[in-house]
Amino acid sequence: MEALISETNPRKDGAVLTIFELNRIYRDSFQNMVEWMEISSLTNDWKMGIIDAWQDDMKELFRKNGFCYGCNRKLAHCVCSEPI
Ligand SMILES: [Zn+2]
Repeated sequence: MEALISETNPRKDGAVLTIFELNRIYRDSFQNMVEWMEISSLTNDWKMGIIDAWQDDMKELFRKNGFCYGCNRKLAHCVCSEPI
């Protein structure tokens, strides 16, 4: 899953991404995963596990760049009961 994310990461210098870039990465990565799921012969249990892992990676990516995955706000301005 890490490879799936870094492939679509527009920056190689480790600079902090904007929420627009994060959302684009999210969308592209999600699309890649859906397409892969369609051709994959894995069982649904496996697929669910992979989706969970992918979502955890996305949450981590958002957090690393200072944004909340739940509400898309800066962590300091998060409106969730707890930043996701
Ligand atoms: Zn939030």
